[in-house]
Amino acid sequence: MHIGVIPVGNVDAKILKYVCDALHEIFDVPAEVKDAQPIPKHAYVEKREQYLASAFVSIAARGECDKNIAITDVDAYSPELNFVFGQAELGGKGCMISIHRLRSFNSGTLEERVKKEAVHEIGHTLGLSHCQDKKCVMSYSPSINGVDYKGRTLCPRCERLCSR
Ligand SMILES: [Zn+2]
Ligand SMILES: [Zn+2]
Repeated sequence: MHIGVIPVGNVDAKILKYVCDALHEIFDVPAEVKDAQPIPKHAYVEKREQYLASAFVSIAARGECDKNIAITDVDAYSPELNFVFGQAELGGKGCMISIHRLRSFNSGTLEERVKKEAVHEIGHTLGLSHCQDKKCVMSYSPSINGVDYKGRTLCPRCERLCSR
């Protein structure tokens, strides 16, 4: 299995490296940065001044690797939520993360947050649902505190269920 990391719009090269490192570390598969893609114009929703996360998942789902993650710096949301850190197709090929809200507090922990969210979303593409273990990377963490609380590794149960 290969994982493609697709920057959408301008994304700091350091962030892309964090993502590749974490995916390789946790899933033990190669992860490589692909060519940057433009932010799709139709993703922008003017009345919210935000971007639809699903548009980025679609870009990733068209990626050439077995699993693909789109990374963007713009503020992403899904219709039922104020914002999202990421979104994925459960058991599918594509997922996305936005780093926009991950840097909103202490930037010193941005690296860890980006790694956790990337592992979480790729975990969904590998068939993993949300986990009740608050320390597991697959726990649902809609707030930055939840992201900071959890680790970046899979709990033993998720590790067993993960179909890579
Ligand atoms: Zn999730
Ligand atoms: Zn778990």
